[in-house]
Amino acid sequence: MSDTTQYPIIIPRDLHQVSRKYISDNALKVLYRLNKSGYDAYLVGGGVRDMLLGIEPKDFDIATNATPEQIKALFRNCRLIGRRFRLAHIVFGRDIIEVATFRGHHDSSDDKQKQCKKISKQSADGMLLRDNIYGSIDEDAERRDFTINALYYNVADFNIYDFADGVKDIEARKIKLIGDPETRYREDPVRMLRAVRFATKLDMTISEETAAPIKPMSSLLGNIPPARMFEEFLKLFISGDAVANFDMLREYDLFKYLFPQLEQALLAEDNETLLAFVRLAMANTDERINQNLRVTPAFLLAAFLWYPLSRQVTQLRQNSQLTPQDAFFSVLHEVMSEQQRSIAIPKRFQAPMKDIWILQDKLQRRDGKRAYKTLEHPKFRAGYDLLLLRGEIEGGEVEQLAKWWTDFQDASPELGQMMIKSLPNARNPRRSVRKRRKPRKTSAKSE
Ligand code: ATP
Ligand code: MG
Repeated sequence: MSDTTQYPIIIPRDLHQVSRKYISDNALKVLYRLNKSGYDAYLVGGGVRDMLLGIEPKDFDIATNATPEQIKALFRNCRLIGRRFRLAHIVFGRDIIEVATFRGHHDSSDDKQKQCKKISKQSADGMLLRDNIYGSIDEDAERRDFTINALYYNVADFNIYDFADGVKDIEARKIKLIGDPETRYREDPVRMLRAVRFATKLDMTISEETAAPIKPMSSLLGNIPPARMFEEFLKLFISGDAVANFDMLREYDLFKYLFPQLEQALLAEDNETLLAFVRLAMANTDERINQNLRVTPAFLLAAFLWYPLSRQVTQLRQNSQLTPQDAFFSVLHEVMSEQQRSIAIPKRFQAPMKDIWILQDKLQRRDGKRAYKTLEHPKFRAGYDLLLLRGEIEGGEVEQLAKWWTDFQDASPELGQMMIKSLPNARNPRRSVRKRRKPRKTSAKSE
C-alpha cells in the first residue's frame, strides 16, 4: 500500500463487473432485508472476488454490522452456528447464505479486549481459538486472510470497497496475505492450505512474502483439529483441482499433515508406481467433478490409503502367523485410526472405504456363485473402479483381473457361466482357497 492511497478504495458500479444479475436471489434477499432494517450489508469474500475474475461464485458470503442476535431477529429461517466464529446461516432449503458480523481487533490492550476474554481466545503459540469480537468494516477487512478476499460490494450504492489493494492483486493475479504473514499463519495455520487452494483454483501465484514462511511454519498444521482438516481436504481434493493441489501441497511440505502415511509411502524408494497411481485416482475424480458427475470422497480416500495398507499387510504376513484375513483387518484398523489423527473422516465415509478395500480381495474370488454375489455388493462399482486403476498402473494379473470383471459385467448369463467355469481351480473352489494359504511354521510358535 502506498502512503498516499486513501482506504478504502471505492470502485463505482460503472467501473466493475459485479452485478445483481450474477448474485443469487437468496443472497440478494438477505442483503436487502438487512439493509432495509437499517444495517450495513455487504457481499464479501469469494463471491465478489470470483465475479471480478469472471468466474461463477460457488457461494455468497455476507458481512454486516448487525450482531448474530439482531440477524436472528430478522430472519425466521436463521440458525446461529459456530463457536470459534459465531455465524448466522440463513437457510433456503438446500441453499445456505452465511452472514457474519464484522469482526474487530484482538491485539489491543484496551478495556474492550479485557472484557472480551470469553469471546476471544488465543493459544500460547498465537493461534486464534475463538474470535467473536465485533468491530467496524475496516477492522473486519484487516481480519480477512488475503487481499483478494477483502473486497466488499455494498447493496446500498453498488460500489466495491477495497481495503487492502485486492483489486490490484486480482489484476496482478497475486495471492497476498493481509498483514504480517507469520503472525497471520500463527493465528490460523489453515491459511497455508487456503493460499495453495486459491492459487490453483484462480490460477494465481502466491506472493513471495506470503509463500516464504509456509515451509518453515508448516508443522503448525499439526495443531488443527482433525474435523476442520477434513473440511479442508474436501475443498482441496473434491473440487476439480485435486492434482494441482496435491502437487503444490507437496511442494510446500503441507501434504504430510493431511496424509502422513501416504506421504511416507511416497518418499519410500519405489515411489514412482504409487505416485502414478494416486495421480490417476485424482485425475479421474477431477474429471468426474468437471463433468458434473457424482463423486464420493470415500473413493479417493480409499485410493490414497490403498498402497500404504497393502504394503503393511504384506509386511505383517511376513512377520506373523496371522491368517491373511486377520492380518488384513488388523492393518485396516491401524491405517484408519492413524489417518483419523490428521483428518477426521466421518463414519459415513469410513464404511464405504473399508468396503472398497475388502472388495479388492473379493474381486479375486470368482468361483461358484461368488462373482455374482460380489456383483451385487452395494459398493461393487467403487471397488471395481479402484481395481481398474490398480490394473492400469500395475499391469499383469491385476490388469487381467480388472479386464475379466469388465467383460463379466456385460456378459450374457451363459457367457458369464462359461467365464466362471474356465477360471483356474474352478471345480473345487473351497480346496483351492485353502491351498493358497501359507503353510504354518511350527517353529515360530512363541512369537
Ligand atoms: P470459496 O468459497 O470460493 O472457497 P471464499 O474466499 O469465499 O472462497 P470461504 O471459506 O467461503 O472462502 O470464506 C469466506 C471469506 O471469509 C473469505 O473470502 C475470507 O475473507 C474470510 N475467511 C475465510 N476463512 C478465513 C481464515 N481462515 N482467515 C481469515 N479470513 C477467512
Ligand atoms: Mg465462500
